[in-house]
Amino acid sequence: MTNIVTLCVKYVHIAFMKILVIEDEKKIANLLQKGLREQGYNVDISHDGNDGLERAGTTPYEAIILDIMLPGRDGLSVLRKLRERKVTTPVMILTARGEVNERVEGLNAGADDYLAKPFAMDELIARLRALMRRVTGENISFYKVADLTINLVNREVMRGNRKIVLTGREFRLLEHLMRSPEQVLTRTQIIERVWEYHFDPGTNLVDVYIQRLRRKVDDGEEVKLIQTVRGVGYAIKPE
Ligand code: CA
Repeated sequence: MTNIVTLCVKYVHIAFMKILVIEDEKKIANLLQKGLREQGYNVDISHDGNDGLERAGTTPYEAIILDIMLPGRDGLSVLRKLRERKVTTPVMILTARGEVNERVEGLNAGADDYLAKPFAMDELIARLRALMRRVTGENISFYKVADLTINLVNREVMRGNRKIVLTGREFRLLEHLMRSPEQVLTRTQIIERVWEYHFDPGTNLVDVYIQRLRRKVDDGEEVKLIQTVRGVGYAIKPE
């Protein structure tokens, strides 16, 4: 009995899930549509960047699968525009194999995951599910910058497969940096948000904590994420 109820709830839930596929290669778009429909999702297809952007901005989708090379407007530009407009729908980008730069750029531009072409439908569906679970469950409790993730619920911080152990204050500092990736936070802003001082204690507190964080997050990593913006403050982004 319980199982039947669970199954019904699951079915109803999925039946309302709408996914937008922005992909100009008709063969791939059709394959995606077929595969996703078989799983019970509603699928809209767009073959053009501008049209995709328009749809994504006007229809509430559960997720967007976004190709990079598109006519009209490329995928990265679609993604940036969406994030600029505060559309937070999870986005999975599709990249050609080996396009490391685009992958990194895509993640920086606000993609939640990526998949290299050619991909297996099973993998795409599994990753898409994980992505939607992650994002719908906790819109504001999970942040990702490049391969660094912070989970505000279980307080787990990961750099790739490496687990990072932080003190309470270090965690708050990282959390605030990751809440607004690429944006420079001034020392004053950091002091206010992390220490809740509404004055400048005139110490190098922030710098000391940034150094500690850097050691844990960036030491031994090829790509450094915690950036000093001289004379202004700090930002988190791939260098
Ligand atoms: Ca394409």
